[in-house]
Amino acid sequence: MKHILFLFVIGLLFSACNSEVKMKTEEQKQTEDFNYLLEQFADIKIMRYQVPGFEDLSLDQKKLTYYLSQAALCGRDIIFDQNYKNNLAVRACLEEIYKNYEGARTGESFQNFVVYLKRVWFSNGIHHHYSMDKFDPGFEPEYFSELMKGTPNGNFPLQEGQTLDEFIPWMTSIIFDPEVAPKRVSLDSSKDLVKASACNFYEGVSQKEAEAFYTKMKDPNDDTPISYGLNSKLVKRDGVVQEEVYYEGGKYGAALKQINFWLEKARTVAENNQQKAVIEKLIEFYKTGDLKVYDEYNVLWVSDLDSRIDFVNGFTETYGDPLGMKATWESVVNFKDMEATKRTEIISSNAQWFEDNSPTDKRFKKDEVKGVSAKVITVSQLGGDCYPSTPIGINLPNADWIRKEHGSKSVTMENITYAYDRAALGNGFLEEFCLTQEEIERSGKYGSMAGNLHTDLHECLGHGSGQLLKDTSPEALKNYSSALEETRADLFALYYILDKKMIELGIMPSLEVGKAEYDRYIRNGLMTQLTRILPGKDIEQAHMRNRQLISKWCYEKGMDENVIEKTSRDNKTYFKINDYDKLRILFGELLAEVQRIKSEGDYDAGKMLVETYGVKVDHELHREVLSRFEKLNIAPYGGFINPTFQLVEENGEIINVAIKYEDDFAAQMLKYSEQYSFK
Ligand code: ZN
Repeated sequence: MKHILFLFVIGLLFSACNSEVKMKTEEQKQTEDFNYLLEQFADIKIMRYQVPGFEDLSLDQKKLTYYLSQAALCGRDIIFDQNYKNNLAVRACLEEIYKNYEGARTGESFQNFVVYLKRVWFSNGIHHHYSMDKFDPGFEPEYFSELMKGTPNGNFPLQEGQTLDEFIPWMTSIIFDPEVAPKRVSLDSSKDLVKASACNFYEGVSQKEAEAFYTKMKDPNDDTPISYGLNSKLVKRDGVVQEEVYYEGGKYGAALKQINFWLEKARTVAENNQQKAVIEKLIEFYKTGDLKVYDEYNVLWVSDLDSRIDFVNGFTETYGDPLGMKATWESVVNFKDMEATKRTEIISSNAQWFEDNSPTDKRFKKDEVKGVSAKVITVSQLGGDCYPSTPIGINLPNADWIRKEHGSKSVTMENITYAYDRAALGNGFLEEFCLTQEEIERSGKYGSMAGNLHTDLHECLGHGSGQLLKDTSPEALKNYSSALEETRADLFALYYILDKKMIELGIMPSLEVGKAEYDRYIRNGLMTQLTRILPGKDIEQAHMRNRQLISKWCYEKGMDENVIEKTSRDNKTYFKINDYDKLRILFGELLAEVQRIKSEGDYDAGKMLVETYGVKVDHELHREVLSRFEKLNIAPYGGFINPTFQLVEENGEIINVAIKYEDDFAAQMLKYSEQYSFK
């Protein structure tokens, strides 16, 4: 599972803060005059992150980071190809023009062409990374032919047997024809999902055939099922449906071989035997493509809690497949932030206290809570599906039976959220949507800390709390289950973030942190998250539904006592919290009800909550929010470029690994295309 940052929900809301309490660890380590925000185009902003603490790692840990980072970059072409079968050809074509076009580079059309190329780089393909819709290129097909013809030295990716005259119309239709590959992942269940999706996990098979293929494979009595179909493309050849498996001797073999080359080096500098075994298993998995080996790898990985350096590298998340089976390749290399991890360890080790004191019914509480292993990490390199658009937290592995028997690792990527916060400084968002100066200042002072603590409580405790009654089916809440589950975890966090216990435990300096979180949550849930919705539409995304559900329910229930006040100034709407303690009680009441719904599997009550409070948008307010937001000119999506690691050698021996912070998005993309493409 990936936790994605909704920019307006957390990132953009924090303004400058030099207070004594804020992000203590980073403040000491990160250089203040670092330029986080690099550029902005279309709906995207490009940022970069610092890697505080890297210099303090041992030489072997630095080498390990270097090797794993190389392995992370080697999978870049895999994700382009998985997203859509012609993405690599499109990218190569656009890059050839960008590098070698001999005509004018100053006009508006050329600038639009460059923006299109940057969007393709950012999304790892021709579809929007979030909406999944194919991009409108923003320039004319005629101009595109002109560009290709004006690039006589371009080394265009001609397909087998193709001449340049055939290549031009072929490429033009891929980029411009709205009928060709309109959506990367379609979730419109009135259609054949496989055929309606442009992602490259199926070829020549229908949804029915794909489902039949895997249903036949599965054994319903298997307690430890492999993740069927995870690392393959399903194709029909000579009338036979079959898998093209991703492994050294098969699909993506060249890239996987190179990844293994670096993993072999990483193995030699592993921090301990456990980590060495983890890396060896991963190498074996890429060599064989055997999903049993993959499970063994995950069991080893989740048990490696002592290593400072850690990584994700593999076919991991299945959001890119409309059938939710096939995984995209991703990588994150990181090391533990020792100071900040103390915070999550305190929370984890007090898990039982939180469970016992939550406002839920006793029958729905766990007698014995196991704290999730949670840590705060510093990211040192992003790759594949985590680059440039990255999650802010990861909870793995995904296989249910492994999570149940061996647990899972939950990580918060704090140098990434920190970079988001810093990049958002002074963008005017808070000033536009907060009613009072006090609120703005509180957010500046405590916002980052509040956001991090909310995430900790949500992840380490919220999801793991409570239990189902004996006869309740885990699937009882059906299509409402994910929205309700996120509601539950958020409420758990909200309830406790205003609890004195947090101060007693030494993880929060004052209740002002909780108030900052309440301000943000309500403002976002009732108003600012609407900036992500198109005019006239309702809310579909599960996290957004949950946030509005909580905010609106509390607004309504507290109306008589004016707990949350809706007010206006200069024709602008604002929401202001008048009574924080009452609001906390309301969060507690809703938590008790949502826990009851989950524990009893009360589908009707769950449906009623989501449909009544989570879905419908106040269209007048929505219009107002959109127009206020537009004036701020803030890109709603963001991503990061990587630092570069360089080996420092003396007499043929590695004596150090240097880190270099890059600042040019296009340059990094061109470099990666040149150095990390394997055929
Ligand atoms: Zn969650």
